[in-house]
Amino acid sequence: MFELTELQEAVRSTAREFAQSMLAPRVNEIEHAEKFPQDLIDAMAELGLMGVPYGEEYGGLEAGLLAEAICIEELAKVSPSAAKLLTVCYLPMDAIALFGTPEQKKKYLPDMCAGKDIGSLAFTESGTGSDPKQLTTTAKRRDGKIYINGVKRFISNAAHEGTIVVVARDAGEDTCTAYLVKKFCKGYSISTPWEKIGFHGSHVYDVFLDDVEVEEADILGGEKEGFGLLLGTTAIGKLAFAAVFAGAAEGAYDLTRKYIMEKMHRGTSISKFPTVQLRTSAIAANTLSMKLMLYRAAEDAERLTGDMRRVQAATALAKGYIADLSNQTIQMCVNSFGAYGGMEEYNIERYLRDSVIFPNIEGNADVQRLISGGYILKKDASLIED
Ligand SMILES: Cc1cc2nc3c(=O)[nH]c(=O)nc-3n(C[C@H](O)[C@H](O)[C@H](O)COP(=O)(O)OP(=O)(O)OC[C@H]3O[C@@H](n4cnc5c(N)ncnc54)[C@H](O)[C@@H]3O)c2cc1C
Repeated sequence: MFELTELQEAVRSTAREFAQSMLAPRVNEIEHAEKFPQDLIDAMAELGLMGVPYGEEYGGLEAGLLAEAICIEELAKVSPSAAKLLTVCYLPMDAIALFGTPEQKKKYLPDMCAGKDIGSLAFTESGTGSDPKQLTTTAKRRDGKIYINGVKRFISNAAHEGTIVVVARDAGEDTCTAYLVKKFCKGYSISTPWEKIGFHGSHVYDVFLDDVEVEEADILGGEKEGFGLLLGTTAIGKLAFAAVFAGAAEGAYDLTRKYIMEKMHRGTSISKFPTVQLRTSAIAANTLSMKLMLYRAAEDAERLTGDMRRVQAATALAKGYIADLSNQTIQMCVNSFGAYGGMEEYNIERYLRDSVIFPNIEGNADVQRLISGGYILKKDASLIED
């Protein structure tokens, strides 16, 4: 489909092999574990998957954003939860790689690429998940130090040891700043995990920040520059989440084809039924269109790194489209199983439960459409170029 470089091909085959040999046999364990198993994170790190797009000097593969998308897609085919875990690890790494000082990159990225520091990014609060202007968690200077107070909501990976990038409002201002905070430092605590419909293998928590002390050196991307940091970081993060959703649809499609080819109905293979054939064609077309959209957005994001607004519009276009279409396509897959679609035995119901969350993670799908549609019309720029 897309002509891949040797390195991109290598990332694909490594991720595919890891997903099939190490993730697939442990999908149920991952679904029910209190925390995503550390030995699987270590194995991903050993294979280079924790650092696909980051510089070799930090222990990354320096393989670019298309390779990152392909890696996440391969994991998501088998376990959307594992793919989400990796995607969330990449978010603070992207923030550091894009906005960190040389010292911050050297301090954090090597341990993150090695799977020893499992990162998080904390933006969402009870009052907002999409609008940075509504933040209430505040950073205030006192006696020459900076203290963060507030509660962050639905924070992934918050129970893993590592670094959390906290986005907090500047006291008395309409601006915000990002800080590098060590999880479980003095003043950091978490709730029990939220009970949610899907992504059972990747938990989310409320994070309580009670007078968490940070220093000047912990400011990431400059004081009062938090909005810009979020824009750049989530522009890349949207691509990674789009890869989770597209990969999950591919995984569901594979399970569905297998089921259809095996299932007999009164002595006839259900693959012979026109209803099943029509639905399969629609599932295949949707799945292919998501994959094309994802790869195209990844190439755009790689090509246009100097223009973050353009990158954000391209990845928002892909993420908004793929989030909803993946959910709808997986529902179609489930329907191909008849009553068995809702049963745990065939695993397809797990993809459906995960996909219910797709339109509402890292920015709602409607908000993605507002970003891409707004960009196209404000800039009078087509996002559909050769
Ligand atoms: C499994 C999971 C993991 C998560 N992990 C993290 C994490 O690690 N870190 C983190 O910070 N957050 C995380 N989140 C939070 C997530 O990113 C937010 O929940 C998401 O961005 C949606 O925000 P919201 O819930 O406030 O919904 P809202 O943005 O409030 O959306 C609610 C509704 O309002 C509409 N809407 C919202 N804004 C507008 C607008 N401007 N114009 C028109 N309509 C609008 C939407 O269409 C939607 O229907 C996670 C969430 C989940 C479910």
